[in-house]
Amino acid sequence: MLTSIQDKTVIVTGGSKGIGKGIASVFARQGANVMIAARGETAAKETVDEINAAGGTAKYYLCDVADWEQVQALVEHTENTFGPVDILCANAGTFPQKKIVDLSPKEWDDIMSTNLKSTFLCVKACIPHFEKLGKGRVVITSSITGPITGYPGWAHYGATKAGQLGFMKTAAMELARYNTTINAVMPGNIVTEGLASLGEDYLNSMAAAIPLKRLGAVEDIANAALFFASDEAAYITGQQMVIDGGQTLPECAEAVDEI
Ligand code: NAP
Repeated sequence: MLTSIQDKTVIVTGGSKGIGKGIASVFARQGANVMIAARGETAAKETVDEINAAGGTAKYYLCDVADWEQVQALVEHTENTFGPVDILCANAGTFPQKKIVDLSPKEWDDIMSTNLKSTFLCVKACIPHFEKLGKGRVVITSSITGPITGYPGWAHYGATKAGQLGFMKTAAMELARYNTTINAVMPGNIVTEGLASLGEDYLNSMAAAIPLKRLGAVEDIANAALFFASDEAAYITGQQMVIDGGQTLPECAEAVDEI
């Protein structure tokens, strides 16, 4: 058990489903008090009930992370419920697939807001808490798509995920004065509600292209996030960790067949 997580106040954006749900569950198992932020109530309530039934402590707050007023309200509500925010997991994101030729300027702006601007808003809203506590942790959920790889239909998405890492480098310097670290996990293909919506063919072809021959589990990402959030990771900031079962390693498709 990472004892440094016990009783910490943690916000997990997009914590109602998928990777965020995995992060919320793993942090709650370590004794954290977890505030899940999402827009849809049904999944948020189900996840919170599941975590609490397993002996953890979680609550939810309905919030669109792209909206500054709502993010401020989330952080204020979290402080009133559990105390100042120790750890922010900026995880919420969407990945609608659409090629550039079909993508509208509005769709571009929407994904920038949900995936990238939200990261800035959530970090900004938590800074007064980190300052008050004299320490803090931020863990961003980026992706391999954008910073490392490309895939037709995800130019806009990839730009947000690479943008998160660009934001992080300077944020790490600015947050250092609050003794706060900020790092990013970069998942490969992880089995979530969002990924499942891409269809069976996509999932099968992806699994075949991964050296470890399976898609990732949400816990694979959550455990890395937990490490970045721990006291044990106090001297790591502005860094990123790829968690992809080796997906980005092969020089060509045939290389995987040689395994
Ligand atoms: P998911 O299963 O679709 O879950 C997305 C979560 O984000 C839900 O809780 C959703 O709840 C929430 N959310 C979406 N838009 C929001 C908004 N505007 N405000 C607040 N909450 C919002 O997705 P996932 O696969 O777990 O992905 C989570 C993160 O991991 C994303 O940042 C994604 O880019 C990244 N990622 C995923 C994979 C993968 O293979 N799954 C790989 C690389 C990176 P509501 O819809 O109810 O708001």
